[in-house]
Amino acid sequence: CGIVGYIGDQQASKIIIDGLKRLEYRGYDSAGLAVINGELKIKKGKGKVASLEKMITPSENGTVGIGHTRWATHGEPNDINSHPHTGQNGKLALVHNGIIENYNTLKKKLSDQGYTFYSETDTEVLTKLIESFLEKDASDLKKAVQLALHQVNGTYGIALVHSDFPDQIVVARKGSPLLLGVGEGEMLIASDASAVAAYTDKVIYLDDGEIAVIRKDDYTVESADQIELSKEIHELALSL
Ligand code: GLU
Repeated sequence: CGIVGYIGDQQASKIIIDGLKRLEYRGYDSAGLAVINGELKIKKGKGKVASLEKMITPSENGTVGIGHTRWATHGEPNDINSHPHTGQNGKLALVHNGIIENYNTLKKKLSDQGYTFYSETDTEVLTKLIESFLEKDASDLKKAVQLALHQVNGTYGIALVHSDFPDQIVVARKGSPLLLGVGEGEMLIASDASAVAAYTDKVIYLDDGEIAVIRKDDYTVESADQIELSKEIHELALSL
């Protein structure tokens, strides 16, 4: 339902919680976040963003992270089905808006390869699919995402972090909105501009099929056929 992410010099969890609160009006059943603090730290559960906020401890200190409010489509609202979902080795975390239509076929294939699934979500399948590509070539997170998305039917706005790539957040969209917020020495991502407007008025709207890598000081956006794009920066005119 809602996605927020941050990379920069500030505490990511604080900015993510703030952004998720601004997306609450859209409705949701669960909330969660992932922060990189040397290793991947996850807090999530059924219930309100305020309850998530209470779960945050100094162990979630970190300057890169992603958060999510879930509107369940596959699997009941509960703690395990909440996002972020993680890879087998506990390094990769992913949040997702939308529906992966062919998740059952993919889940069978991945189970045969030895992957275990803990949730009932379509999202966990995509997470493990990306991890399976990363296991073949661990050098490039974006490439693993691209390869995985080629096997997926459905709609998605996704954001991922990985503790081996603590300097980046990878995002992609198809049929579900996602934007980049361009700050000074910091970058945000969100499913809705209201979640980033307190931090920057410069946004880039991703189009369907696009994939972006954001770092603290820069970003790249590519089309589905891996052509690097120069995207227009829009000025937000929101009053807060
Ligand atoms: N299909 C995913 C799930 O059920 C994402 C739902 C959403 O868009 O919040 O977990």
